[in-house]
Amino acid sequence: MFDLSGQVALITGASRGIGEAAARSLAKYGAKVVLAARSGTDVERIAADINGNGGQAIAVTCDVAKYEDVEKTIQACLDKFGTIDILVNNAGIIEPISRIEVSDPEAWSSVIDVNVKGVYFGLRAAVPHMLQKGSGTIINISSGAATGALEGWSHYCSSKAAALSLTRCGEKEFGDKGIRVIGLSPGTVATQMQVDIKASGINPVSQLDPSVHIPAEWVGEAICWLSTDAGDTYRGIDCSLRDEDVRKAVGLV
Ligand code: NAP
Repeated sequence: MFDLSGQVALITGASRGIGEAAARSLAKYGAKVVLAARSGTDVERIAADINGNGGQAIAVTCDVAKYEDVEKTIQACLDKFGTIDILVNNAGIIEPISRIEVSDPEAWSSVIDVNVKGVYFGLRAAVPHMLQKGSGTIINISSGAATGALEGWSHYCSSKAAALSLTRCGEKEFGDKGIRVIGLSPGTVATQMQVDIKASGINPVSQLDPSVHIPAEWVGEAICWLSTDAGDTYRGIDCSLRDEDVRKAVGLV
């Protein structure tokens, strides 16, 4: 449905959930993909599966909270495929869910390291290469938490608000230089993250019946759609996959 042939895409947090689905969808539409996550064996298994089904993929072990890892991953992408066209800043964590007064300061900060610094590190490492060729698409996976507030999620809400700010700032800085920075707020998605949220029992999201969550594959398709010209509408802002019109445009309903 989407033509991404010849494009090179790097997806962080590609060892499961939304990141895995994004890598598989991007490869299905012809993109060469780099899968990055801390679980090296998982990204290797998924990359091997993509290669076995006619795609082109490599796996890189990467902790997005470490800038040297992110730089190394971009370099691996350039070494293998010669360029980077699409960066999906997807890696994200929500654990430990806890109220501020009992939260562990170090654990709270580690969420900021992944969800905020990880996105900044991706931009910092990829943008110089995109600027050089005057094109590129960066999709930051956002959340309703970027503009909402929920008990027990102070780290996560703060981090997603900051990621949205990076989407805005990125568009301001590179928007006129051929680089699109786009946010995607997927709604609730049936992944390990929602299993952890349910187990916390802390706020209304934890009370949701799992049947209301959308499949990760829908988000993968939306990422491919945003990678085409359709993404122009969402430069510097979050696109919401809860929006029925967006779902229709992606081909989900
Ligand atoms: P998930 O199933 O828990 O997957 C998270 C992914 O991030 C895993 O592949 C994990 O791989 C990776 N990751 C975590 N820390 C990392 C690090 N330091 N460096 C590199 N990779 C790391 O969660 P998901 O639902 O797919 O979440 C993906 C994104 O969607 C997140 O940004 C999340 O905030 C966002 N989101 C999810 C929902 C939802 O309802 N599920 C809703 C809104 C937004 P490793 O552990 O192998 O590193």
